[in-house]
Amino acid sequence: MKTTMDPPVHLALPLDEPESPLDCGVCAALVEQRGEAADRGDLSRVTDLNVEIRNHHSARRKRRKA
Ligand SMILES: [Zn+2]
Repeated sequence: MKTTMDPPVHLALPLDEPESPLDCGVCAALVEQRGEAADRGDLSRVTDLNVEIRNHHSARRKRRKA
């Protein structure tokens, strides 16, 4: 099984890093964790956090309990 949306894992940083709203503490924390994951070279974690940041404000009907 192969997905049609392979992330560019060969890049040091993803191109589409979402910005966090300055007034959102949750996203600020996610961005901080994303920076730490990037420092470790943990790109799958970075991608996870980017998804979480996006979902936090764009996918309201798909809310997850953290
Ligand atoms: Zn947020």
